[in-house]
Amino acid sequence: MHDAVTRFIAEKGYPDFNIKAFFFDMDGVLFDSMPYHAAAWTRAMRENGLSFTEYDAYLHEGRTGESTIDKFFLKQLHHPADKALKEAIYAAKSAYFNAYPPVSPVPDVEALLNDVKAYGFERYVVTGSAQESLIDNLEHYFPDIFHRDNIVSAFDVKYGKPDPEPYLIALRKAKIDPWQAIVVENAPLGVRSAVAAGIFTIGVNTGILRPEELQQEGANIVLPTMQALRELLPELIGIVP
Ligand code: MG
Repeated sequence: MHDAVTRFIAEKGYPDFNIKAFFFDMDGVLFDSMPYHAAAWTRAMRENGLSFTEYDAYLHEGRTGESTIDKFFLKQLHHPADKALKEAIYAAKSAYFNAYPPVSPVPDVEALLNDVKAYGFERYVVTGSAQESLIDNLEHYFPDIFHRDNIVSAFDVKYGKPDPEPYLIALRKAKIDPWQAIVVENAPLGVRSAVAAGIFTIGVNTGILRPEELQQEGANIVLPTMQALRELLPELIGIVP
């Protein structure tokens, strides 16, 4: 058994590690959309007098637009943004994002998903995204991987990540316990959410963050690529001792 799994079970006092399902985040895990999000955020925030970097966008990935804007206003201008301004900044960010070409899948994620399916595990998407076209996009890019009932999105939650709520909903939908799932996340706040839900969490650092950002949030394993996760999979799920 992988050391990280042994440690996880011992720390949590779980009875075993009997995986039934994988929970995948979407932005930065399934779709390579973070470079566009980061560029759009940086442009919209700077136009409004805030200092903001692409690294900031990656660090705060998963926060709602409103909360991200508030955070930077308070920190730099020492007052919250008024509602109209927040809406205008977020509208600008969305417009810049939508002007980019369609996003493509993260390298090697299709192969990973096919492996996960071939091993017989259920697949779920757990995302803070509120895109109307989300289900169509998933069906188009990953046919026969994600059943439309196996999606938890912004429409299903009250709090969203970094609260554990989205992953707790996924556990409920899958009718499994926390020791029967593995989460794949790319963002610090996503890792925080999954860890708080008590689930074994793999951070795949597909963006520009230092890997420590994912480790500090409690990721059980941090890997650089989806290919690295593919290679580790048999050992993780106990096919290789
Ligand atoms: Mg993400």
